[in-house]
Amino acid sequence: MHNSPNEIIYFLLVDDLEENLLSLEALLRRDGLVLLKARSGPEALELLLKHEVALALLDVQMPGMDGFELAELMRGTERTRHIPIIFLTAGAADYQRRFRGYETGAVDFIQKPIEADILRSKSQVFFDLYYQQLLLIRQRDELRRNAEALLEADRRKDEFLATLAHELRNPLAPIRNGLQVLRMSPDSNTAEQVRTMMERQITHLVRLIDDLLDVARVSQGKIDLHQERISVQSVLTAAVEVSHPLIEQRKHTLTMNIPENDLWLEGDSTRLAQIIGNLLNNAAKYTPEGGAITLSATTEGEDVLLSVTDNGLGISTDMLPKIFEMFTQVDNDLSRTQGGLGIGLALVKRLVEMHHGNITAHSDGLGHGSRFTVRLPLAASATASPAATNPTNADAATAPLRVLIVDDNIPSAKTTGWMLELIGHQFILAHDGHAALETANTFLPDVVLLDIGLPGMNGYDVCKTLRKDARFRDTLIIAQTGWGQERDRQLATDAGFNHHLLKPIDFEKLSEQLALVKPAVRNAA
Ligand code: ADP
Repeated sequence: MHNSPNEIIYFLLVDDLEENLLSLEALLRRDGLVLLKARSGPEALELLLKHEVALALLDVQMPGMDGFELAELMRGTERTRHIPIIFLTAGAADYQRRFRGYETGAVDFIQKPIEADILRSKSQVFFDLYYQQLLLIRQRDELRRNAEALLEADRRKDEFLATLAHELRNPLAPIRNGLQVLRMSPDSNTAEQVRTMMERQITHLVRLIDDLLDVARVSQGKIDLHQERISVQSVLTAAVEVSHPLIEQRKHTLTMNIPENDLWLEGDSTRLAQIIGNLLNNAAKYTPEGGAITLSATTEGEDVLLSVTDNGLGISTDMLPKIFEMFTQVDNDLSRTQGGLGIGLALVKRLVEMHHGNITAHSDGLGHGSRFTVRLPLAASATASPAATNPTNADAATAPLRVLIVDDNIPSAKTTGWMLELIGHQFILAHDGHAALETANTFLPDVVLLDIGLPGMNGYDVCKTLRKDARFRDTLIIAQTGWGQERDRQLATDAGFNHHLLKPIDFEKLSEQLALVKPAVRNAA
């Protein structure tokens, strides 16, 4: 029963006769209880200085300082004032002696010769009381610690929200200005630069929001890994592709030390590339322009070590242990100007752990650069794997397709349509569920890009209805939503969607999927 606080409880036994002490000890002995024995008042006081005592059993008649005198001294000292006392008395005369300080703490009398049961049950009460007190103290301390942790989390959350608002607003100003420029002089030389700038800002916004969504999903355990066998080389290539623009923009040189022979991992290729891409981006961000970044892969036993080294700002010794915590940002000018939310590394760490690996950070201090090393287990057997073919190129010649775009957000639908037209496809728009079905009936699309939240009839129902029609059984139907939770993907699959794309749609991903579709050969019917 008494199993949680495993503190030891002390009783003090004071008697001038050794044999009395021994028999008391024999009577009271139990687990979790230590019996401190003293042969005199002064000896007892010494023990009381060293230990917190739950109960004192005092013989009344002792040479020198007797039991009452000892009790009075105990009551006079703050530390021992509240210790419960049981006096062991030899005769009725003892009762008549007044004991001052009676009122300060529990006092009881037991008549000698001692009845074992009475002594045991009385001391049991004090043992239990003290035990409960220990429990309470422990719970109080725990509550205090939790409250402190909550306060700290709350403070970080507030800081995070402030940073978030700031970071989300940052890209909006140049986008708005850019629009103004385009409106005033749509064909000027600057227009192209403005467009590039706007694209970059939007990419940045989308990344922030993706990270936020990811963090929320990871912390709720809602990220599913799409496990596959994948080569380290292809992970690194994909990561470099993502971070290349920033590395170039900041005029860094990137050196790759990667083994020639393929090394294989078991994991989610997108997430693995995201891990390394994030580290490369940080290296590019936190290194002053014209720096040197190295990406290397080496094996160690059954593991591969992937490391990203830079010669940039470095990380101070006191920040290093905190760097992977959520919302941690080192307060320096670059962190502020480079803009981030302080969630990148927390996310990276969790993703690495989901792949049964770990990540460490090393820096010789501020100004001495940083190195982040990801350790991942290599795939079990090194048998050659079928070469992963990556259908990447969006500009691969694609046959013209008929695309039905269903979205109640008209600007979004139109711009998607224009982009499709630019790569040679035909499109038609519908802005609600019923219109979507009617349009499909006459337009006979090869592909339907279908929003989920629609007026009238939602995207799931539109998809289910289309699938019931033999003409649309094999049509590529792609869901486009702002919701990327696993549950949403499942609903989309159940409704008969082939794919699920997050808004704003990544045009490259979309065109990859379109590149796989053969347009129907239609009879002029
Ligand atoms: P963010 O970059 O959004 O601030 P991260 O979680 O990616 O958030 O990084 C947390 C902090 O760690 C950054 O603010 C930065 O100060 C520090 N940091 C990360 N990578 C590096 C690096 N390569 N060199 C120096 N500092 C870094």
